[in-house]
Amino acid sequence: MPIRRIRVFPDPILRKKCRVVRRVDDKVTDLANDMIETLDAAGGVGLAANQVGALQRVVILHLPGDEDSIVLINPEIRDTEGEREVIEGCLSFPGFEGMVKRSVTVKARWLDENGSKMKITTEDLFAQALEHEIDHLNGILYIDHLLEHEKLATAGSYVDPEEPHMHDVEVELHADHSDDDDAEPEESDIEVVHTTIKFSDLYSEDSVDKMHYDLRKTGYVIDPPKPTDQTHDHVESDDPHLDGGVILDPDHSH
Ligand SMILES: [Zn+2]
Repeated sequence: MPIRRIRVFPDPILRKKCRVVRRVDDKVTDLANDMIETLDAAGGVGLAANQVGALQRVVILHLPGDEDSIVLINPEIRDTEGEREVIEGCLSFPGFEGMVKRSVTVKARWLDENGSKMKITTEDLFAQALEHEIDHLNGILYIDHLLEHEKLATAGSYVDPEEPHMHDVEVELHADHSDDDDAEPEESDIEVVHTTIKFSDLYSEDSVDKMHYDLRKTGYVIDPPKPTDQTHDHVESDDPHLDGGVILDPDHSH
């Protein structure tokens, strides 16, 4: 039962679809046993056959706390429910992780190593691993599901999505200094300010076009009102000379 080499992105086999296993024979159980050893040696939660170069619909899961690995032959997702955001990694992307959307509940069925029919309705890591590994069998990788805003991060450096974190974002502000609020402002009345706002109010799940921030905290609105919880408010100024006009640079630095 040799340990097999885990293929690393961008190995083209990771984009290949695996074939349905017609018969659970010795060749399939040999492959499954190799995969069990390979997964345990790598210390991962799940492994799909194309990750070790075999184009067959075989997945191994070894959930933390479980003594034994599970062999899933021809696994299929029958139904999913809900949506959640989770940080995910993959043995084919060593050292990286990213935030993806996964289902809350997954219903799946497969054949075990004896060819017996198995089914489960599960949540948490089991559900996430089923979606991740069955994606692999279809040539789909978790980087295909990465949420817009964060993309891949070095493993361990991921920001807790519940915690605000800092972003520097380039903004262009158009301040209207004309006296008449109803008239179209003269070009000479418009002051264009380029600046970098250091955000403390941005959450990981926000994509760039959904950024929420508060201009008052950046000092652009004088005489701030009594502090309220404006963490998730869109920019809306009480100052009639500063009504909107903020353009975000999509190439924000992170
Ligand atoms: Zn993977």
